Amino acid sequence: MTNVATWDAETDSCDVGSLSIHRIVDLESVPFAANMIYPEAVLTEMRELSSLLGTHHFDQNSFDLLLSFHTFLMRNDKYTILVDLCCGNDKDRPTRPAWHQRKGPFLENLATADVAPEDVDFVMCTHLHADHVGWNTRLVDGAWQPTFPNAQYLFAEKEFNHWQLEHEKNPTEQILYGSYIDSVLPVMASGQAQLVASNHQIASGIHMEAAYGHTPGNIIIHIEDTDSHVILCGDAIHHPVQLIHPEWSTNFCSDPEQSRATRMAFLSDYADTQTAILPAHFQAPDYGRIERDGKSFRLAGH
Ligand SMILES: [Zn+2]
Repeated sequence: MTNVATWDAETDSCDVGSLSIHRIVDLESVPFAANMIYPEAVLTEMRELSSLLGTHHFDQNSFDLLLSFHTFLMRNDKYTILVDLCCGNDKDRPTRPAWHQRKGPFLENLATADVAPEDVDFVMCTHLHADHVGWNTRLVDGAWQPTFPNAQYLFAEKEFNHWQLEHEKNPTEQILYGSYIDSVLPVMASGQAQLVASNHQIASGIHMEAAYGHTPGNIIIHIEDTDSHVILCGDAIHHPVQLIHPEWSTNFCSDPEQSRATRMAFLSDYADTQTAILPAHFQAPDYGRIERDGKSFRLAGH
Protein backbone atom coordinates (compact mmCIF):
# COMPACT_ATOMS: atom_id res chain seq x y z
CA MET A 1 0.00 0.00 0.00
CA THR A 2 1.42 3.33 -0.95
CA ASN A 3 -1.59 5.62 -0.59
CA VAL A 4 -3.68 6.41 2.45
CA ALA A 5 -7.35 6.98 1.70
CA THR A 6 -7.73 10.31 3.48
CA TRP A 7 -11.09 11.45 4.81
CA ASP A 8 -12.07 14.88 3.47
CA ALA A 9 -13.95 16.68 6.26
CA GLU A 10 -15.48 19.19 3.85
CA THR A 11 -17.06 16.67 1.47
CA ASP A 12 -17.47 14.03 4.23
CA SER A 13 -15.98 11.44 1.89
CA CYS A 14 -12.88 9.64 0.69
CA ASP A 15 -11.82 7.79 -2.44
CA VAL A 16 -10.38 4.30 -2.79
CA GLY A 17 -9.23 4.03 -6.39
CA SER A 18 -12.32 4.62 -8.56
CA LEU A 19 -14.69 4.01 -5.62
CA SER A 20 -15.97 6.96 -3.60
CA ILE A 21 -17.17 6.56 -0.02
CA HIS A 22 -19.58 9.15 1.39
CA ARG A 23 -21.08 9.36 4.85
CA ILE A 24 -24.88 9.69 4.89
CA VAL A 25 -26.07 10.83 8.31
CA ASP A 26 -29.18 9.54 10.06
CA LEU A 27 -28.37 10.93 13.54
CA GLU A 28 -25.34 12.67 15.05
CA SER A 29 -24.13 13.71 18.48
CA VAL A 30 -26.48 11.35 20.32
CA PRO A 31 -25.42 11.30 24.00
CA PHE A 32 -25.04 8.03 25.92
CA ALA A 33 -23.85 7.84 29.52
CA ALA A 34 -20.37 6.30 29.28
CA ASN A 35 -21.12 3.56 31.81
CA MET A 36 -24.29 2.66 29.92
CA ILE A 37 -22.06 1.56 27.05
CA TYR A 38 -18.88 0.52 28.88
CA PRO A 39 -19.19 -1.04 32.36
CA GLU A 40 -15.65 0.06 33.29
CA ALA A 41 -16.12 3.74 32.38
CA VAL A 42 -15.95 6.38 35.13
CA LEU A 43 -16.91 10.01 34.74
CA THR A 44 -13.63 11.58 35.90
CA GLU A 45 -11.70 9.69 33.27
CA MET A 46 -14.21 10.69 30.55
CA ARG A 47 -13.47 14.33 31.32
CA GLU A 48 -9.73 13.68 30.81
CA LEU A 49 -10.32 11.65 27.65
CA SER A 50 -12.45 14.43 26.18
CA SER A 51 -9.46 16.78 26.01
CA LEU A 52 -7.25 13.97 24.68
CA LEU A 53 -9.59 12.52 22.04
CA GLY A 54 -11.53 15.62 20.98
CA THR A 55 -14.41 17.55 22.51
CA HIS A 56 -16.72 16.57 19.61
CA HIS A 57 -16.76 13.00 21.00
CA PHE A 58 -18.15 14.03 24.42
CA ASP A 59 -20.97 16.19 25.74
CA GLN A 60 -19.13 19.05 27.40
CA ASN A 61 -21.51 19.30 30.38
CA SER A 62 -22.27 15.68 31.26
CA PHE A 63 -19.24 14.05 29.56
CA ASP A 64 -21.64 11.56 28.05
CA LEU A 65 -20.23 9.88 24.96
CA LEU A 66 -21.50 11.30 21.65
CA LEU A 67 -22.24 8.83 18.86
CA SER A 68 -23.01 9.31 15.19
CA PHE A 69 -25.34 6.97 13.30
CA HIS A 70 -24.43 7.03 9.62
CA THR A 71 -24.46 4.90 6.50
CA PHE A 72 -21.45 4.61 4.25
CA LEU A 73 -22.43 5.09 0.59
CA MET A 74 -19.95 3.47 -1.81
CA ARG A 75 -20.13 4.22 -5.49
CA ASN A 76 -18.25 3.58 -8.69
CA ASP A 77 -19.41 3.41 -12.31
CA LYS A 78 -20.79 -0.10 -11.73
CA TYR A 79 -22.33 -0.15 -8.26
CA THR A 80 -24.12 1.87 -5.62
CA ILE A 81 -23.74 0.19 -2.23
CA LEU A 82 -24.99 1.17 1.23
CA VAL A 83 -23.40 -0.19 4.41
CA ASP A 84 -25.18 -0.08 7.80
CA LEU A 85 -28.65 1.40 7.64
CA CYS A 86 -28.91 3.24 10.97
CA CYS A 87 -32.16 3.72 12.88
CA GLY A 88 -34.83 4.54 10.28
CA ASN A 89 -38.06 6.51 10.43
CA ASP A 90 -41.41 5.67 12.05
CA LYS A 91 -39.96 2.75 14.04
CA ASP A 92 -41.41 2.00 17.46
CA ARG A 93 -38.46 2.09 19.89
CA PRO A 94 -40.08 3.31 23.12
CA THR A 95 -37.06 2.36 25.27
CA ARG A 96 -34.67 4.28 22.98
CA PRO A 97 -36.14 7.80 22.75
CA ALA A 98 -33.58 9.05 20.17
CA TRP A 99 -34.61 6.24 17.78
CA HIS A 100 -38.37 6.26 18.52
CA GLN A 101 -40.89 7.32 15.85
CA ARG A 102 -38.32 9.38 14.00
CA LYS A 103 -39.06 11.65 11.05
CA GLY A 104 -35.45 12.26 10.00
CA PRO A 105 -34.14 13.45 6.62
CA PHE A 106 -32.00 10.39 5.80
CA LEU A 107 -33.49 9.87 2.31
CA GLU A 108 -33.13 13.60 1.61
CA ASN A 109 -29.48 13.34 2.69
CA LEU A 110 -29.08 10.44 0.26
CA ALA A 111 -30.74 12.50 -2.49
CA THR A 112 -28.24 15.31 -1.81
CA ALA A 113 -25.54 12.76 -2.69
CA ASP A 114 -27.51 12.18 -5.90
CA VAL A 115 -28.80 8.73 -4.95
CA ALA A 116 -32.48 7.74 -5.24
CA PRO A 117 -33.71 4.57 -3.50
CA GLU A 118 -34.10 2.89 -6.92
CA ASP A 119 -30.38 3.44 -7.66
CA VAL A 120 -29.08 1.22 -4.86
CA ASP A 121 -27.66 -2.15 -5.98
CA PHE A 122 -26.51 -3.63 -2.66
CA VAL A 123 -27.37 -3.08 0.98
CA MET A 124 -25.14 -4.59 3.65
CA CYS A 125 -25.42 -4.62 7.43
CA THR A 126 -22.29 -5.42 9.45
CA HIS A 127 -24.70 -6.96 11.97
CA LEU A 128 -28.43 -6.93 12.68
CA HIS A 129 -28.68 -4.61 15.71
CA ALA A 130 -31.53 -2.06 15.50
CA ASP A 131 -29.21 0.86 14.68
CA HIS A 132 -27.76 -0.94 11.63
CA VAL A 133 -30.95 -2.13 9.91
CA GLY A 134 -33.42 0.77 10.38
CA TRP A 135 -33.44 2.13 6.83
CA ASN A 136 -33.62 -1.39 5.38
CA THR A 137 -37.37 -0.73 5.37
CA ARG A 138 -39.80 2.16 5.36
CA LEU A 139 -43.45 2.46 6.19
CA VAL A 140 -45.66 2.52 3.07
CA ASP A 141 -49.45 2.47 3.51
CA GLY A 142 -49.06 1.05 7.00
CA ALA A 143 -46.72 -1.81 5.99
CA TRP A 144 -42.93 -2.19 6.21
CA GLN A 145 -41.40 -2.45 2.75
CA PRO A 146 -37.78 -2.58 1.59
CA THR A 147 -36.64 1.03 1.13
CA PHE A 148 -34.46 0.13 -1.87
CA PRO A 149 -36.65 -1.73 -4.40
CA ASN A 150 -33.85 -2.83 -6.74
CA ALA A 151 -31.24 -3.71 -4.14
CA GLN A 152 -29.97 -7.08 -3.10
CA TYR A 153 -29.61 -7.09 0.69
CA LEU A 154 -26.60 -9.13 1.80
CA PHE A 155 -26.81 -10.56 5.32
CA ALA A 156 -24.12 -12.78 6.81
CA GLU A 157 -25.79 -16.17 7.14
CA LYS A 158 -24.31 -16.82 10.59
CA GLU A 159 -25.72 -13.51 11.87
CA PHE A 160 -29.15 -14.06 10.32
CA ASN A 161 -29.39 -17.64 11.62
CA HIS A 162 -28.65 -16.53 15.17
CA TRP A 163 -31.41 -13.90 15.31
CA GLN A 164 -33.85 -16.07 13.35
CA LEU A 165 -33.45 -18.78 15.99
CA GLU A 166 -34.04 -16.20 18.76
CA HIS A 167 -37.14 -15.05 16.91
CA GLU A 168 -38.46 -18.60 16.46
CA LYS A 169 -38.06 -19.31 20.18
CA ASN A 170 -40.59 -16.57 20.89
CA PRO A 171 -42.10 -15.05 17.73
CA THR A 172 -44.09 -12.37 19.56
CA GLU A 173 -41.10 -11.02 21.51
CA GLN A 174 -39.74 -7.69 20.21
CA ILE A 175 -36.16 -8.90 19.89
CA LEU A 176 -33.60 -6.24 18.96
CA TYR A 177 -36.10 -3.53 20.05
CA GLY A 178 -38.52 -4.84 17.41
CA SER A 179 -36.13 -4.26 14.53
CA TYR A 180 -35.90 -7.92 13.55
CA ILE A 181 -39.62 -7.92 12.78
CA ASP A 182 -39.89 -4.46 11.19
CA SER A 183 -36.51 -4.11 9.44
CA VAL A 184 -35.20 -7.62 8.64
CA LEU A 185 -38.15 -9.97 8.10
CA PRO A 186 -39.87 -7.72 5.47
CA VAL A 187 -36.66 -7.88 3.41
CA MET A 188 -36.62 -11.66 3.68
CA ALA A 189 -40.29 -11.79 2.66
CA SER A 190 -39.64 -9.62 -0.40
CA GLY A 191 -37.10 -12.09 -1.78
CA GLN A 192 -34.44 -9.34 -1.91
CA ALA A 193 -32.22 -10.83 0.82
CA GLN A 194 -29.27 -13.07 0.12
CA LEU A 195 -27.59 -14.95 2.95
CA VAL A 196 -23.85 -15.06 2.39
CA ALA A 197 -20.69 -16.48 3.95
CA SER A 198 -18.85 -14.20 6.38
CA ASN A 199 -15.97 -13.85 3.88
CA HIS A 200 -18.24 -13.09 0.91
CA GLN A 201 -16.77 -11.08 -1.96
CA ILE A 202 -19.31 -8.50 -3.12
CA ALA A 203 -17.39 -7.19 -6.11
CA SER A 204 -13.79 -6.83 -7.16
CA GLY A 205 -11.95 -5.23 -4.23
CA ILE A 206 -14.88 -5.40 -1.78
CA HIS A 207 -15.16 -8.31 0.62
CA MET A 208 -16.47 -9.19 4.06
CA GLU A 209 -14.48 -10.66 6.93
CA ALA A 210 -15.71 -12.30 10.14
CA ALA A 211 -15.31 -10.12 13.25
CA TYR A 212 -17.39 -12.08 15.73
CA GLY A 213 -18.10 -11.07 19.29
CA HIS A 214 -20.12 -7.85 19.18
CA THR A 215 -22.79 -10.13 17.72
CA PRO A 216 -22.43 -13.83 16.83
CA GLY A 217 -22.12 -13.17 13.08
CA ASN A 218 -20.67 -9.64 13.07
CA ILE A 219 -18.57 -8.81 9.99
CA ILE A 220 -16.34 -5.99 8.75
CA ILE A 221 -15.94 -4.89 5.12
CA HIS A 222 -12.66 -4.39 3.29
CA ILE A 223 -12.35 -2.05 0.32
CA GLU A 224 -9.08 -2.36 -1.57
CA ASP A 225 -7.53 -1.27 -4.77
CA THR A 226 -3.96 -1.64 -5.92
CA ASP A 227 -2.59 0.99 -3.57
CA SER A 228 -5.11 1.80 -0.86
CA HIS A 229 -7.16 -0.05 1.75
CA VAL A 230 -10.12 1.02 3.85
CA ILE A 231 -12.10 -1.04 6.37
CA LEU A 232 -15.71 -0.31 7.26
CA CYS A 233 -15.37 -1.80 10.73
CA GLY A 234 -18.93 -1.29 11.99
CA ASP A 235 -19.10 -1.78 15.75
CA ALA A 236 -15.81 -3.67 16.13
CA ILE A 237 -14.95 -0.34 17.77
CA HIS A 238 -17.78 1.98 18.90
CA HIS A 239 -16.19 5.11 20.25
CA PRO A 240 -12.64 6.57 20.36
CA VAL A 241 -12.39 5.74 24.10
CA GLN A 242 -11.71 2.17 22.92
CA LEU A 243 -8.49 3.38 21.26
CA ILE A 244 -7.31 4.21 24.79
CA HIS A 245 -9.06 1.18 26.29
CA PRO A 246 -9.08 -1.47 23.54
CA GLU A 247 -9.90 -4.02 26.25
CA TRP A 248 -13.34 -2.44 26.89
CA SER A 249 -16.27 -4.30 25.34
CA THR A 250 -19.75 -2.82 25.42
CA ASN A 251 -22.78 -3.83 27.41
CA PHE A 252 -24.35 -4.67 24.04
CA CYS A 253 -21.74 -7.23 22.96
CA SER A 254 -23.12 -10.79 22.70
CA ASP A 255 -19.78 -12.19 23.81
CA PRO A 256 -17.63 -9.53 25.51
CA GLU A 257 -14.52 -11.77 25.65
CA GLN A 258 -14.66 -12.60 21.95
CA SER A 259 -15.45 -8.97 21.12
CA ARG A 260 -12.36 -7.87 23.08
CA ALA A 261 -10.11 -10.39 21.33
CA THR A 262 -11.49 -9.40 17.91
CA ARG A 263 -11.00 -5.66 18.56
CA MET A 264 -7.50 -6.01 20.00
CA ALA A 265 -6.38 -8.17 17.07
CA PHE A 266 -7.98 -5.73 14.62
CA LEU A 267 -6.28 -2.67 16.12
CA SER A 268 -2.93 -4.48 16.38
CA ASP A 269 -3.15 -5.67 12.78
CA TYR A 270 -3.82 -2.23 11.31
CA ALA A 271 -2.00 0.19 13.64
CA ASP A 272 0.94 1.89 11.93
CA THR A 273 -0.18 0.67 8.49
CA GLN A 274 -1.60 2.63 5.56
CA THR A 275 -5.09 1.17 6.18
CA ALA A 276 -7.84 3.66 7.07
CA ILE A 277 -10.64 2.58 9.40
CA LEU A 278 -14.20 3.89 9.11
CA PRO A 279 -16.23 2.93 12.23
CA ALA A 280 -20.04 3.06 12.27
CA HIS A 281 -20.41 5.45 15.21
CA PHE A 282 -17.38 7.77 15.39
CA GLN A 283 -18.30 11.43 15.09
CA ALA A 284 -16.99 13.19 11.97
CA PRO A 285 -14.36 13.65 10.75
CA ASP A 286 -12.31 11.07 12.67
CA TYR A 287 -11.97 8.31 10.09
CA GLY A 288 -8.50 7.29 9.00
CA ARG A 289 -5.23 5.66 9.99
CA ILE A 290 -4.50 4.48 13.49
CA GLU A 291 -1.19 4.39 15.32
CA ARG A 292 0.08 2.43 18.28
CA ASP A 293 0.73 4.48 21.42
CA GLY A 294 2.27 2.16 24.03
CA LYS A 295 -0.47 -0.29 25.00
CA SER A 296 -3.09 1.99 23.48
CA PHE A 297 -3.82 3.42 20.06
CA ARG A 298 -4.62 6.83 18.60
CA LEU A 299 -6.01 8.25 15.40
CA ALA A 300 -3.12 9.40 13.21
CA GLY A 301 -2.63 13.13 13.45
CA HIS A 302 -4.18 13.39 16.95
ZN1 LIG B 1 -24.23 0.14 16.34
